[in-house]
Amino acid sequence: MSRKFIVGGNWKCNPATVREANTLLKEWKKALPNVDKSKVDVVICPPALWMSSLNESIEALGMSTCAQNVGKNDAGAFTGEWTASNLQDINISWTLIGHSERRTKYGESDADVAEKVAKCQDAGLNVILCIGETLEEREGGKTDEVNKRQLGAVIPKVKDWDKIVIAYEPVWAIGTGKVATPDQAEETQAAIRAYLKEAAGAAVADKVRIQYGGSVTRDNCAELITKPNIDGFLVGGASLKPTFMDIVSAVG
Ligand code: PEP
Repeated sequence: MSRKFIVGGNWKCNPATVREANTLLKEWKKALPNVDKSKVDVVICPPALWMSSLNESIEALGMSTCAQNVGKNDAGAFTGEWTASNLQDINISWTLIGHSERRTKYGESDADVAEKVAKCQDAGLNVILCIGETLEEREGGKTDEVNKRQLGAVIPKVKDWDKIVIAYEPVWAIGTGKVATPDQAEETQAAIRAYLKEAAGAAVADKVRIQYGGSVTRDNCAELITKPNIDGFLVGGASLKPTFMDIVSAVG
């Protein structure tokens, strides 16, 4: 089966102002003629406060807006949180879940991630599920074990695999400038797909898109995307630049 590529831009808490964000979107618009939208989906994750105000401009580029996180509960006394249904209500149909910064800086466990995925499935939300090992885990030969554990926690919660994209993001590659080699990424993502086949069946393994994330730039993306198990990218730092569109057009 051929899978449509998908590129995500995770802005984290950047840029400093919504005006700068709008300027960036205007820059991207100039590069749109280079992108074949039939080949690539693009989802952009702005800071939560701006999701609503930027959604129209992002959609006008043929892209989707994606939250960077979502709460694991329904509506109630959860100060500072938002629910999967809240996102649907403001026409945001994507969210990241389990980004390594959420796991390491905010203590999100595999069980938390699984609960969030369950809420998104109930609300019909698309999820980019982030998984990946630390440097210590890679050096200890535990890469596949960690990915299986993180993904395995979520599998029982998934009823609709069309709404799940996996982002393999080795923690040691995120924001470090130390990108995985195409062979390293391919080997790990092939193992993730093999595990999906074992745990969720061949049809699921065949159709679920697996992004690579970690220091992707316009200079290293062309070789990575030639690998059969790399279905696109989740991009952090390089998604804050006009040249993000070079990455999108290299894929689509
Ligand atoms: C990320 O935060 O998901 C990420 C991949 O960041 P960067 O591209 O900056 O490494």
